[in-house]
Amino acid sequence: MLIDNIKTIYRRMSYAAMRAGRDPLDVRLIAVTKTVDAETLRQAVEVGLREFGENRVQEGREKVLRLREEIPDSPLTWHLIGHLQRNKAGSAVELFDLIHSVDSPELVEVINRKAETLGKRQRLLIQVKLSDEESKYGMLKENLLPLLELLKGMKNVKAEGLMTIPPFFDNPEVARPYFRKLRQLRDYAEEEGFILPELSMGMTNDFEVAIEEGATIVRIGTAIFGERQKEER
Ligand SMILES: *Cc1c(COP(=O)(O)O)cnc(C)c1O
Repeated sequence: MLIDNIKTIYRRMSYAAMRAGRDPLDVRLIAVTKTVDAETLRQAVEVGLREFGENRVQEGREKVLRLREEIPDSPLTWHLIGHLQRNKAGSAVELFDLIHSVDSPELVEVINRKAETLGKRQRLLIQVKLSDEESKYGMLKENLLPLLELLKGMKNVKAEGLMTIPPFFDNPEVARPYFRKLRQLRDYAEEEGFILPELSMGMTNDFEVAIEEGATIVRIGTAIFGERQKEER
């Protein structure tokens, strides 16, 4: 059942990429495992998934440590996709390969310091908020270039791209302008000399539209694991 869901998603991802004239291999699937139990997570690894996303540091920590112990020979990539508080930044740097939710200079400073302590270069994405209605997290696009300038001077962090969460719409077409805006913002930053290849955008309801607009990472939970008990965005 899990395998059927995953096959269907990869097929839909491929078609969406091809519709946009893109190489399907340029889009990565992150399986969002928040609220998913350890047994199901292990099944997901068994059927071949290697990249996972958690939205909370604490919940993520248990899963990361457990899987490291249970299947040490299957190296997994962990993504932090939810809001990160500064006081959790240390754990986040210890546990996650890519932090998608960086949205302030203060947070960047803390992450850089923690990464230095751990001798790590922390990869991250900057979360941008493109409308008033959308999630309360994310930085305004006006503040992006100053943040990128700040990051340029830091040795232990590396910005690899942008992430956004548009408001939820039943019709995914309505989300298209947000995805397009994120890509245009990335293109603008590149013209200013910042290289940001990754665009983390698209979830169960709208990932095909996001891929058509340039997503390189889609974050999908429900379409793989089924409905969660309590939805929080
Ligand atoms: C929960 C979550 C997802 C996955 O949502 P689905 O609609 O279940 O695919 C993606 N991104 C973030 C930031 C999330 O919190």
